[in-house]
Amino acid sequence: MKTRLRISAFLFWACLSIVSTALAADGRLNVVTTTEDLAALAREVGGDRVTVEAIARGYQDPHFVEAKPSFILKLQKADLLIVVGRELEIGWLPPLVQQSRNAKVQVGAEGYLDASQGVRILEIPTGQITRAMGDVHPQGNPHYWLDPENGRAIAKSICDKLSQFRPGERAYFEQRLGAFNTRLTDAVRKWAAQMAPYKGTKIVTYHRSFPNFADRFGLDIIGYVEPRPGIPPSPSHTLDLIQEMKRQNVKLILVEPYFDLKTPQSVATAVGGQVLVVPPSVGGVKEAADFFGLFDYDVMLLVNALKATAGK
Ligand SMILES: [Zn+2]
Repeated sequence: MKTRLRISAFLFWACLSIVSTALAADGRLNVVTTTEDLAALAREVGGDRVTVEAIARGYQDPHFVEAKPSFILKLQKADLLIVVGRELEIGWLPPLVQQSRNAKVQVGAEGYLDASQGVRILEIPTGQITRAMGDVHPQGNPHYWLDPENGRAIAKSICDKLSQFRPGERAYFEQRLGAFNTRLTDAVRKWAAQMAPYKGTKIVTYHRSFPNFADRFGLDIIGYVEPRPGIPPSPSHTLDLIQEMKRQNVKLILVEPYFDLKTPQSVATAVGGQVLVVPPSVGGVKEAADFFGLFDYDVMLLVNALKATAGK
């Protein structure tokens, strides 16, 4: 795989200098993001002064993305690479960036933006965590974009970075950031009002994707289908989870679209509860087409499920 990538990288590299020159001619900054969430935020701020492409699709597990030669092509022509950071992409991104041979987007270069700077990170480990323990969240929870207020912080970082590249367009980016913030404030108020009747509801999720979301909207996550982030369910953990859910009368299990539903469904059956497939990213379903669409969709799903559970 590595060799194939390297050969492809070389071939792309050979012809791409021509392509990048042509693309740069329209003056738009070429932004590549690792996820569709970051792409959505970059579009909000960058408007028609940028082209934005995401690498991973919103329906994929962002921890485990299969590397493809086409990703190197995207990185080769990027002016700016925006990553989630906190080691979310550590399993697949570093070799791609390296093989792109694009000096602009190497770690620490001007065109490399780690979006986790300035956001609120939860679950930062206090003890010593090693990869041998199978933890894919060694630097705190990397699913932080699921708090819309963190989305606001990410958009600000993107605005600063774009303005650094194009000082002459700062007013344009800041105006777009302002419009985004206004719209977000109204939307957060709406989502919070929709979720308010269910404040304190206890739920279970498959992976630790939703702590920021739960914290923002008042849900209480009491357990996970995975024994540890990145480690598949085990029979003993599943039994413990069922007991705990019964003890606390928990009925709802949120599952990201890329996990097997077998274990969550057996847990739901055992506790007389329900599995709800909830996309954690823009592009996870077609309704979640942008940052606002993601929360509109997830809040709607949850409210419908919680309404039904409350009636039982
Ligand atoms: Zn994770």
